[in-house]
Amino acid sequence: MKHIPLRTCVACRAVRAKRELIRIVRTPEGRICVDSTGKMNGRGAYLCRKRRCWQSAIGDSPRQFARSRLIAALHAVPDEEAWSTLHAYAQQLSDEVETNLEPHYTGVKGA
Ligand SMILES: [Zn+2]
Repeated sequence: MKHIPLRTCVACRAVRAKRELIRIVRTPEGRICVDSTGKMNGRGAYLCRKRRCWQSAIGDSPRQFARSRLIAALHAVPDEEAWSTLHAYAQQLSDEVETNLEPHYTGVKGA
């Protein structure tokens, strides 16, 4: 059987195939961004493609963001712009997520 890399969502602690999660990265310059390629340099943290997980990981405001799990996971310095970017990203996700772990599943459209 083929080895599937697994990662843990920092919000709900679910363990999923890496490609089913979205990677957030803190770049070497200290910026926080959504890593749609999964290949950016820097410290990464993973979230499900669920709005609920994003909300719970980043909080409802920049102030909550400062004490959020995502910031803790990334050892990042929070800023309002990063929160806005992540918050906007979360708005286009839904709470439904397909959990298709079959080996032939080739992933993710768009991103
Ligand atoms: Zn999750």
